Amino acid sequence: MAIGNAHRAALVQIVGEQASLSSESDLGLYEYDGGVDRARPDLVLFPSSAHEVSHILAYCTLHQIPLVARGAGTGLSGGAIPIAGGVVVSLVRMNRILEMNLDDEYLKVQPGVVNLDLSAALAPHGYFYAPDPSSQRACTVGGNVAENAGGPHTLVYGVTTNHVLGLEFVTAEGDIRIAGGPEGDLPGLDIRGLLIGSEGTLAVVTAIWVRIMRSPEAVETMLAVYDDPEQAGQSVSDIIGRGVLPIALEMMDGVMLRMVEEATNAGYPLDAAAILLVELAGPVEEIREQAPLVEGICAAAGARSVRIAADAAERALLWKGRKNAFGAIGRVSPTFYVQDGVVPRTRLPRVLGLIQEIARKHGLTISNIFHAGDGNLHPIILFNARKPGDIEKAKLAGDEILELCVAEGGTITGEHGVGMEKNELFGKLYSQPLQEHLLSLKQQFDPAGILNPGKLLPASQTLNRFENVTAAQ
Ligand SMILES: Cc1cc2nc3c(=O)[nH]c(=O)nc-3n(C[C@H](O)[C@H](O)[C@H](O)COP(=O)(O)OP(=O)(O)OC[C@H]3O[C@@H](n4cnc5c(N)ncnc54)[C@H](O)[C@@H]3O)c2cc1C
Repeated sequence: MAIGNAHRAALVQIVGEQASLSSESDLGLYEYDGGVDRARPDLVLFPSSAHEVSHILAYCTLHQIPLVARGAGTGLSGGAIPIAGGVVVSLVRMNRILEMNLDDEYLKVQPGVVNLDLSAALAPHGYFYAPDPSSQRACTVGGNVAENAGGPHTLVYGVTTNHVLGLEFVTAEGDIRIAGGPEGDLPGLDIRGLLIGSEGTLAVVTAIWVRIMRSPEAVETMLAVYDDPEQAGQSVSDIIGRGVLPIALEMMDGVMLRMVEEATNAGYPLDAAAILLVELAGPVEEIREQAPLVEGICAAAGARSVRIAADAAERALLWKGRKNAFGAIGRVSPTFYVQDGVVPRTRLPRVLGLIQEIARKHGLTISNIFHAGDGNLHPIILFNARKPGDIEKAKLAGDEILELCVAEGGTITGEHGVGMEKNELFGKLYSQPLQEHLLSLKQQFDPAGILNPGKLLPASQTLNRFENVTAAQ
C-alpha cells in the first residue's frame, strides 16, 4: 500500500520532520531485518513517547494504514518487514532505563533500550538481566518482548516471558494501557503473557518492567571437544540425566566452529567434529562439586578434551566465539538463512543426521549451532542470493527442516518467532477453529487489522485487506 502525501504530512507532524524518514534511499534501510525477506515502507517514524505512539496508531487505524513496530531489526523471521507497505514505527529513540529498583529487584525500561545495556547498568550493583540473545549487543528489549526472545542461558533461566513483570502498551486505536507492573502476577487473565511473543500484531509496547537477578557467586565455563557430533549430543543427555542443570549447554558442529574460529580466535580446535560449551553457575561449593562431574560425563561420552576456562577473560573469549557466530558466516558465504526448529533433546542426534540428508538432496551446505540443552536447533543454510534459484532452494530446505522437527515431536520456532517466514506452517500447526479464535483475539486489539499484517497468522487471514490498495489520498 502506498500512502498519499496528505497522510504522510499528518503523520510526520506527530513526531516532527527530524524524527521521520521518507526518501527512497533512507527507506531502503528499513526494507529488511536479519532474515531473507524484503519489503519497503512508505514512511519511517521515530516517536519519543507513548503519547506520540498513541497518536500515530489512532491515525493509522482511522485511515486503515498498515503499521509495523521496529526495534533494532535483528529479527530472523521477517517480523519487522512492512510487507503491506505503510508506516514503520521505530522505537529506538525510546531508549532510556526509567527506573532501577534494587530493593524490589526490577527495572522499568523503554522498548528501545538495547538488551545488553540492562546487564551493563546492573553489573556494578551485583545484578543482571537473564535473557541474553546472541544479538544482545544490538537487539532491543521491545523486540525481545515481541519475539519472546531466548538465548544461550534460557536452559535454566527461561525466556523473556519469565522475566517480564508488566507492560505498558498502545492498542491500534491509540489507547495506552498497562498489564501487570512491578508487582508481577495479577489475578485474572494474563494480558502481559498474551502480548509477549505476539510479534507486534496486537499492540505496540512502550514500557516494560523486567525482573532482575543477583549475579551468581561462582561461574565455570567449559569447552568439550569431540571427534563425533553424536558424542556431543550424548553428553547433553547424560549431563541432564545425572541431575546437573548447567545454565548453558551450547553445541556447534565442525563446519560452524571452523567458520567461527577463523573469524574470532576463540580457541576452538579447527579439526574437531563438534564442540560443547557448558556453563555452570551458583554457590561456590555447588559449582566446585559439579565441574569435575560434568568433565567426567563429557569424557565418558567420548570427548577428546575438556577445558575449564581459567579466568573471566578466557570465559569471555569462549563466549565471544558463540555470540559472534552468525557474523562469522559472512566470511565463508555471501548469504545464509538461519532456521529455528525445536525437537525433544533425545532426538537431536537423529535429527542432525536427517538435516544433512536434506542438505545433500538440495546440494547445499547446512551447518549447525544450537541451544542443545533446550533441543533448540539453528541449522544455518549457506547459499548465494545472487545465484538464480539459490534462495528458493534454501527456503525449501528450511521448510523441510521445520516439517522434520514437527514430525519428530517438536515445533517450528524456539525463539526467533513466526513472522512472515513460518506463518503458513503456523497454519498447519493449529486447527482452523483455534486459528479463528486467535484472529478474533487480534480483532479485539486491532479492529482495522493495521498491526503487522501478514505476520504470525497465515497471510490470507490478515493481509487481504491491504492487497490492491493504491494511494488513499
Ligand atoms: C546474530 C543474531 C543472533 C541472534 N540470536 C538470538 C538468540 O540467541 N535468541 C533469540 O531469541 N533471538 C536471536 N536473534 C533474533 C533477534 O535478535 C531477536 O528476535 C530479537 O528479539 C529482535 O529484537 P529487535 O529489537 O531487533 O526487533 P526487530 O527485529 O526490530 O522486531 C522483531 C519483532 O518485534 C516487533 N517489535 C519490535 N519492537 C516492538 C514494540 N516495541 N512493540 C511491539 N512490537 C515490537 C516487530 O514488529 C517485529 O515483529 C538473533 C539475531 C541475530 C541477527
